[in-house]
Amino acid sequence: MRHHFVFFTLILVLFSSTSSAHFFPNVSSIPPWILKNINQTAGAWDAFNKYAGCRAGDKVDGLARVKKYFQNFGYITESPLNFTDAFDDVLESAIKNYQKNFNLEPTGQLDNKTIQQILRPRCGNPDIVNGTTTMNSGHPDSHNTSLFHSVAHYSFFPGKPRWPSNKRTLTYAFLPENQLTDNVKAVFGQAFSRWSMVTQLNFTQSESYRTADIRIAFVTGDHGDGEPFDGVLGTLAHAFSPPSGFFHLDGEENWVIEGMNTPLTTMSAVDLESVAVHEIGHLLGLGHSSVEESIMFPTISSGTRKVELVSDDIEGIQELYGSNPNFNGTSATSVQQRDTSGAYPSASLWGLTLFLAVGFVHIILL
Ligand SMILES: [Zn+2]
Ligand SMILES: [Zn+2]
Repeated sequence: MRHHFVFFTLILVLFSSTSSAHFFPNVSSIPPWILKNINQTAGAWDAFNKYAGCRAGDKVDGLARVKKYFQNFGYITESPLNFTDAFDDVLESAIKNYQKNFNLEPTGQLDNKTIQQILRPRCGNPDIVNGTTTMNSGHPDSHNTSLFHSVAHYSFFPGKPRWPSNKRTLTYAFLPENQLTDNVKAVFGQAFSRWSMVTQLNFTQSESYRTADIRIAFVTGDHGDGEPFDGVLGTLAHAFSPPSGFFHLDGEENWVIEGMNTPLTTMSAVDLESVAVHEIGHLLGLGHSSVEESIMFPTISSGTRKVELVSDDIEGIQELYGSNPNFNGTSATSVQQRDTSGAYPSASLWGLTLFLAVGFVHIILL
């Protein structure tokens, strides 16, 4: 019995040290028992597959959930209390705007390409805020389908909020209860550096979560701000406009901290730096962009990595904060890459320990 107690204590310590967030140095370090679990639960929105082919006039059980999806991201403004399973004008119009924003043909139907785009994991921030957007659907030209590819560019929050001009050094801190390792914190440091390279902004880590300008927290489900997370995939993270500074990540995702060299789209693992670079864009005042290559595009495929700012992101952020005098390019590809060859000993060790501990408990239970 005593051995049981020791090992259950060990398990408790291991789990509480990460406060429900899952981190893995790389994809191959995710233990098989977790991958099995991932395959069973993958995709908060996978059920939407059954609506492929739906169009105006149809009525399909559960279609109200698709309306809720579009309402979440700003495409429908009416209350979910009124949603029915009928494919009505409101849904058709929402789908058309969504298609324009994501560079799809605006058919107004849930065609295959549109469904595939909807299923992709994405940022929880809406694409349309208070009924307005500067993504594609907000441009008059986008009504001309032959032009819908050419009008996209960066956007801001309504009112163009930004950090005040006398504040060029912003502090960031991590929720202490998350007890993140230095390796995980370093991923955020790297993500911040991508934005400071192209602007006059600087970012420094603070130990005081309460007073920091930017507050980073891994949280799960409903966490008090009216924007609940939804478990594996679905929404991955969200961040508030300046000067709020709140940056929340879904603690139920399987976050990969070392980066991913090979795209593995069948896997429900999410590259932490890719998401961090995107959310920092919001924290600084950028909205979503219809430019698919940009960091501020709303979706990211699971198992992929996208961390480089492109000219669309750089032009947007420089409109808010000016340019870094040391930066004279239009691309940030010169950001120094971290050495990913075994640079994360403690995280690897954590994964190994967890794997061994779970194996041992399994033996005890047998
Ligand atoms: Zn976003
Ligand atoms: Zn939140």
